[in-house]
Amino acid sequence: MTQRSAVVIGAGIGGITAATHLANAGLHVTVVEKNRQPGGRCGRFVRDGHRFDTGATLFVMRLVYEAEFRALGASLSDRLELRRVDPTYRLVFDDSSQLALTSDMASMRRQLELMEPGSFSGYQRYMEEGGRHYQIVLEKVVNRDFRRMADFISLEALDLLVRAKPLVNHYRNMATYFKAPRLKSAFTFQDLYVGLSPFDAPATFSLLPYTELAHGVWYPAGGMYSIVETLVELARDAGVEFTFGSSVSQIDTNANHARGVRLTDGTYVAADVVLANADLPYVYEHLLPDSGIAAKMSRMQFSASAISFFWGLDTAYDALGPHTLFLADDYRDNFDRIVRDLTLPANPSLYVHAPARLDPSMAPPGQDTLTAIIPVGHLRDGGGQDWADLRDRAREHVFRRLRALGITDLASHIKFEETHTPASWAERHNLAKGATHGLSHKLTQMAYFRPSNRHRRYRNLYFVGASTHPGTGVPMAMVSGRHVAARIAAEVH
Ligand SMILES: Cc1cc2nc3c(=O)[nH]c(=O)nc-3n(C[C@H](O)[C@H](O)[C@H](O)COP(=O)(O)OP(=O)(O)OC[C@H]3O[C@@H](n4cnc5c(N)ncnc54)[C@H](O)[C@@H]3O)c2cc1C
Repeated sequence: MTQRSAVVIGAGIGGITAATHLANAGLHVTVVEKNRQPGGRCGRFVRDGHRFDTGATLFVMRLVYEAEFRALGASLSDRLELRRVDPTYRLVFDDSSQLALTSDMASMRRQLELMEPGSFSGYQRYMEEGGRHYQIVLEKVVNRDFRRMADFISLEALDLLVRAKPLVNHYRNMATYFKAPRLKSAFTFQDLYVGLSPFDAPATFSLLPYTELAHGVWYPAGGMYSIVETLVELARDAGVEFTFGSSVSQIDTNANHARGVRLTDGTYVAADVVLANADLPYVYEHLLPDSGIAAKMSRMQFSASAISFFWGLDTAYDALGPHTLFLADDYRDNFDRIVRDLTLPANPSLYVHAPARLDPSMAPPGQDTLTAIIPVGHLRDGGGQDWADLRDRAREHVFRRLRALGITDLASHIKFEETHTPASWAERHNLAKGATHGLSHKLTQMAYFRPSNRHRRYRNLYFVGASTHPGTGVPMAMVSGRHVAARIAAEVH
């Protein structure tokens, strides 16, 4: 029998994972990536000895990574040197008071009781609920492939509806556990990772703080990009071929089949199967013939975006922990400005990452490597956002916030700065609306309701990655790669 071939558009986490599974299943696989390096949103750049993870910086859901590495025939702990990060984050509030989130229960008790007497028992109950939600979602949503309505609407699914609180508002649900607004914020801000405001998100997402504290936040030596390097190694070992610096301009289709892809330089790559890892709404809008789906998709809800600063510093700020989150007291206004007004809040919450605290090789000796991420709205359809101005304002907010930690001279120690705005995120990885987490994960865009991983008309065209099921995040992209590859392998053999 002749060997079947697959072409994968994009070398993001989902694309590389799927490519490896497909090669292991006997297909001849070529991955075409527009940029000169793999990884997509889990990217890296190196300058003057400073190493930056450009997108993902948090290794969470270790159990999912372990399962996905096993499925690829590899051992996570053999391949990556993982260090536990505890406290996971240091939260800094507007009045400079702090809360260090940690798995050390005695420390949590001490800190929480100071903020709100009696709140430690609320925390324990909240973690129990998060654990329940984590189990249900992993088992019944993430690890399932929703092909038909019947896969979703079943007695089991109805049971899930009740137990994982998908119809209960996350922020409102916090009143069951805490009174202090800052504690409600401390355990809901993670909703932004799935593109949602806690004021819109289902209470299901208490699973996120639960997994961070129960299973830990980890750090792979060399940064998150080590995951990409390892996955590419596994892919190459399986026989996958990569072409970098080549952009796909069109998926070639006939009546009901995809026949291959055309690159911007005119090259044609024929294949039995086409798998797009590029952001799904972008694929429908730019790589496929107009079918009305692209217009429909652009009206779906997209996740927020981010302004990111990457600074190489000529001094080290040892007092700055690896993950610091400055949480604004005007929490609701923050999310309204981001999600509703698509802009930068007046007093934005923001995150600062200092990887050299975890791995000295991330910066030259005596120097520091800092990343600051400020969540902002995604690109407006009609434009009108002045990203240069918003970026400059965001930078001032980072400087101002760091002063609360005694860092008053950051600006004078910056050797170089690189930035990303929603516009450059869009441009670099072809992300629709520059939304860093793709389509949001509101209830009507999850599980069966998320756009299908297979094209309805071109039956050998499949989709993988953050805007597909199960959704955003490095481990989820690996899960989606495995699901889709299993489906393709079952179809082509
Ligand atoms: C700022 C930020 C912070 C994040 N933080 C975390 C975190 O802490 N932890 C976590 O787990 N996740 C995090 N994420 C999310 C995570 O990085 C992504 O969900 C995941 O990496 C997406 O993988 P993907 O498979 O969807 O591929 P993508 O990363 O979207 O890759 C798709 C690839 O396709 C390429 N491509 C696009 N169009 C074409 C074309 N026409 N031709 C050829 N190639 C093309 C792109 O260049 C890209 O390389 C973060 C993301 C961002 C942006």
